[in-house]
Amino acid sequence: MSSKPIILCVEDNVRNRTLLRRILQHQGYEIQEAENANQALETLEDLVPDLILMDINMPDIDGFSLTQQLRKKPKFANIPIIAITANVMKGDRERTLEAGCDGYLEKPINIEKLTSQLSLFLNDNRKNDD
Ligand code: MN
Repeated sequence: MSSKPIILCVEDNVRNRTLLRRILQHQGYEIQEAENANQALETLEDLVPDLILMDINMPDIDGFSLTQQLRKKPKFANIPIIAITANVMKGDRERTLEAGCDGYLEKPINIEKLTSQLSLFLNDNRKNDD
């Protein structure tokens, strides 16, 4: 085992960021945080995370648009992106997948579902790196 997998958490709500940070640190991940899309883009200039947790509802650029932007750049084309949304409207899941997200979680965050998505995508990712 080398270093811990790095997860970038893009989420405008500080309480949700704190919750995610606690859960993920406890599970042995390294967390980077961004509170909006522009901050995420700045962070991603110097960092290629192993996975991105992407809030969909954000004030400036939403998670759909940010995901679409990232997917156009080769270095982010294959990073697993898991959408997190409070929307439970029919079609949201399909919209996140169309935007380029790999997975989808609803708020409030269910820890078991979060954990299983992370292990699914991070394991796949590591296999590809070997
Ligand atoms: Mn939000």
